[in-house]
Amino acid sequence: MPPAPDARRFICTVCWRLRADGEHVDYCRCQPHDTDDSAPDRDIPCQLCWICALTVVHGHTRWMLVNCNECSTRARELNTANGRLLIPIGIHSIVNGVALRPSGDRKGLERQAQSFVGFTRSMFTSLDQLRAQGQRIVKARCHRLGLIGAELVDVDVYVAAARAVGYTEASSFNRYVTSMRRRD
Ligand SMILES: [Zn+2]
Ligand SMILES: [Zn+2]
Ligand SMILES: [Zn+2]
Repeated sequence: MPPAPDARRFICTVCWRLRADGEHVDYCRCQPHDTDDSAPDRDIPCQLCWICALTVVHGHTRWMLVNCNECSTRARELNTANGRLLIPIGIHSIVNGVALRPSGDRKGLERQAQSFVGFTRSMFTSLDQLRAQGQRIVKARCHRLGLIGAELVDVDVYVAAARAVGYTEASSFNRYVTSMRRRD
């Protein structure tokens, strides 16, 4: 079932992930729940874009993107210009441009498998860094915007307040790239 675009979502100020309950459900980290083994993707939550944190990105599929369309476009351009995955595009390796397509002899297969393992390992490290960075941005902005105090912050209220003080996709992306260069 596609997620309702108008679902009301909240930022949990304990774990800084999104929560929604109603017709559309997103569980944050603080909500233990039974998972449906026949549909593991269902529990992948929607999230705020990990770069600009100004747009909700839809989850519930392993093919999901981790950034909004605008930030994904910039991330793809940066990755292409650098010839490697500096900023992850999705949570799945195929979405990030790599799939293991076995071909050749045994030695060749081993080499391919090794480079695939290396790629996915660094992809997961980048994903963890990007996710953590995204949550730090939301937390810092909520503090700056005075939206702290309640356990849940309405996403629409947060986004409107953040845009009102001038945060944009472009400024967030530039900040992210600067911090990434500093880390390297
Ligand atoms: Zn939570
Ligand atoms: Zn959702
Ligand atoms: Zn974005």
